[in-house]
Amino acid sequence: MPRPLPQSIIDPKLLEEVKSVYRDLAQRPIERNCERRTECCHFKITGETPYLTKGEAIIAAKAWKASGRSKLPERKNGSCPFLEEGSGKCHIYEGRPFGCRTHFCKAAGGAYARREVIDLIRRLERVDIALKGEGPLALPIAIQKVLLQ
Ligand code: SF4
Repeated sequence: MPRPLPQSIIDPKLLEEVKSVYRDLAQRPIERNCERRTECCHFKITGETPYLTKGEAIIAAKAWKASGRSKLPERKNGSCPFLEEGSGKCHIYEGRPFGCRTHFCKAAGGAYARREVIDLIRRLERVDIALKGEGPLALPIAIQKVLLQ
């Protein structure tokens, strides 16, 4: 297993590439109508958890820290640790990972087809390799690893 890179020596261009993937995704003419029902943020209900590459996890963790928080809360109901209980607000919305930007519930139009975004997935994978990541990891694990570095 590759040794994790200390965050202090991470090339900022790699994180910029992840943000660029998010921007390019937003430009794709794939119609969805998300009403922020947040069903997809309840992993136990959907049976699906977003998997994050390391660059995505670093950006999400930075957004979490920027919101004045450090530790991830334990969520016994199986919801995303970034979801504010009660309001249903995502605490890291601008820094949310790729899966949250492509995996919509049925009411919103359903998940993007892999073929529609495979080029963007490959770019995230390349950043993951450059950051000595371990490949995509389930959101809580991916974030915990970054927060502990
Ligand atoms: S990161 Fe935000 S959008 Fe994604 S599952 Fe968590 S709360 Fe929902």
